[in-house]
Amino acid sequence: MSDLDLINELKKLAGEGNVLCDEPMSKHTTFRAGGNAKYYVTVSDVKALKDVISHLQSKDIPFFLTGRGSNLLVSDKGYDGVILHPGSGYEDMSFSGNEVTTGAGASLISLAAAAADRGLSGLEFASGIPGSVGGAVFMNAGAYGGEIRDCLKIAEIFFYDGKLETYTPEELQLSYRHSCLKERPGCVLKAVFELNEDDPVIIRGRMEELRKKRLEKQPLEYPSAGSTFKRPEGFFAGKLISDAGLSGEHVGDAYVSEKHCGFIVNKGNASATDIHQLMVRVQSRVKECTGVTLEPEVIMLGEF
Ligand SMILES: Cc1cc2nc3c(=O)[nH]c(=O)nc-3n(C[C@H](O)[C@H](O)[C@H](O)COP(=O)(O)OP(=O)(O)OC[C@H]3O[C@@H](n4cnc5c(N)ncnc54)[C@H](O)[C@@H]3O)c2cc1C
Repeated sequence: MSDLDLINELKKLAGEGNVLCDEPMSKHTTFRAGGNAKYYVTVSDVKALKDVISHLQSKDIPFFLTGRGSNLLVSDKGYDGVILHPGSGYEDMSFSGNEVTTGAGASLISLAAAAADRGLSGLEFASGIPGSVGGAVFMNAGAYGGEIRDCLKIAEIFFYDGKLETYTPEELQLSYRHSCLKERPGCVLKAVFELNEDDPVIIRGRMEELRKKRLEKQPLEYPSAGSTFKRPEGFFAGKLISDAGLSGEHVGDAYVSEKHCGFIVNKGNASATDIHQLMVRVQSRVKECTGVTLEPEVIMLGEF
């Protein structure tokens, strides 16, 4: 299939204005780094998503799903395939009693705020996590003692083998920054969260406390993807990195944050290669000094 035929087919399936070519992924990732996606397709409903995926599969064209790009490092060489992004049709939230049903593209921060306004508690931990609901389910995102599996009731998933299924957190095998979607790929379409009634003022108070903690401890003034590495059992990645003398270590404009060594930040024009090289340096120095292996939390896409 020629590039032009593919573009025309994608436009037919996803909508004329929803197909971008050679799109810089630095515009779609919170690291603000990385190369271009050959195609960047916004899918605004489930039909478009299924149709596009089935077409790409039939032509053997690689594709990758993104949410808000807040845990993603795309290679400087770019991505030679189709980036699929759930668009505005995936952002609806509807509340009923103590449950909220939300599209996978909705912002987790907006969801936590909307729940707080309605006097629903349980998502306070998520109020500073700048991802989408879909990305948060995929990662089992968590902070300050809370995580998605604590309040998720069910998620509707379109698996790339063609099955549409509704999974509980147990079926999703949610554990520390893990879901079964890492092994059996699929797209979270929507999620239902079960929350607890509480006073909106008290919920807001808890969120404010967490916001202050983040501001005080995390280098939010610079682009990053949050914690670069997972927390190794029994340790804190940031402390291991700091103890290995790596605070302020840098490759180009990619720095180990002096404020929180668990974050690699982009202090200017860091490339994905700079960030990746710094990650490798940190891993090898920490291993040398402490014997602990740091595993990236950040998802890497493309060739490094
Ligand atoms: C400043 C900052 C602070 C952060 N703090 C935290 C924190 O406290 N706790 C925490 O856990 N994380 C944190 N993160 C990381 C990040 O926000 C989370 O991992 C978030 O869940 C990623 O969501 P996303 O939509 O941005 O996913 P993306 O980065 O777009 O994608 C990440 C992965 O999720 C998959 N994915 C995305 N959407 C879907 C979907 N609909 N269905 C299936 N898979 C999907 C992608 O394919 C990819 O593999 C932080 C990031 C930043 C920049």
